[in-house]
Amino acid sequence: MPTSAPTPCRYPSCRALLSAPGFCNEHRAAVHREYGRARRGFDTERGFYQSPRWRSVRAAFLREHPVCKACEALGSTTPGVVADHIQPIKENGLRFDWSNLQALCVSCHNRKTARETAASRLYPPRGS
Ligand SMILES: [Zn+2]
Ligand SMILES: [Zn+2]
Repeated sequence: MPTSAPTPCRYPSCRALLSAPGFCNEHRAAVHREYGRARRGFDTERGFYQSPRWRSVRAAFLREHPVCKACEALGSTTPGVVADHIQPIKENGLRFDWSNLQALCVSCHNRKTARETAASRLYPPRGS
């Protein structure tokens, strides 16, 4: 396979030369990050999680639901430390409704988040 002539990184003002059209390593990551953030409404979500109202709903919920629900279903008792939205906020889940919350431990929550992230990459949410 012949090597093509070097082309510049497509990022404005970057002078890196690449063997194939696109972005240099550094900017590929940056562009990817910005794209993902815009799509997921990342900043809005982060603002929500820091809001006083959410903090108090979360604290009250975890007081009433001190055990990780996913671990409990498997027969073990792990303290729940995350008030997880069963229907994710980015999919229009109810933010403050206890019926849309479940207590999870950190590892169960990470597993769920990873699954959702992978799923939304495969199936971008439609405005339903
Ligand atoms: Zn670049
Ligand atoms: Zn758990």
